[in-house]
Amino acid sequence: MVAITGGGTLLGRLLGYNHGMHTVVRCRQGHLFTTIWIPEITLKAVDLGVARLQRCPVGRHWTLITPVKPASLTDDERQFAEQHRDVRIP
Ligand SMILES: [Zn+2]
Repeated sequence: MVAITGGGTLLGRLLGYNHGMHTVVRCRQGHLFTTIWIPEITLKAVDLGVARLQRCPVGRHWTLITPVKPASLTDDERQFAEQHRDVRIP
């Protein structure tokens, strides 16, 4: 049921998650980093909820990542995430 499992994602967006070119995410092992999170891709992976399979640049491992509300992070955590970007733009 896409309508139900996708509800959390849509609700999350309404509640202020930062989606797009500069999204703070957390991997399954708790590593924080920033990445590109494009909503269209999220919708395609809706069977995974708000999680996405991606390589974690902090632990250097493949993992499921989920978006994190910046407001729920401490300044140190935000700073750490800023310093670990999985963004490869020349
Ligand atoms: Zn990790």
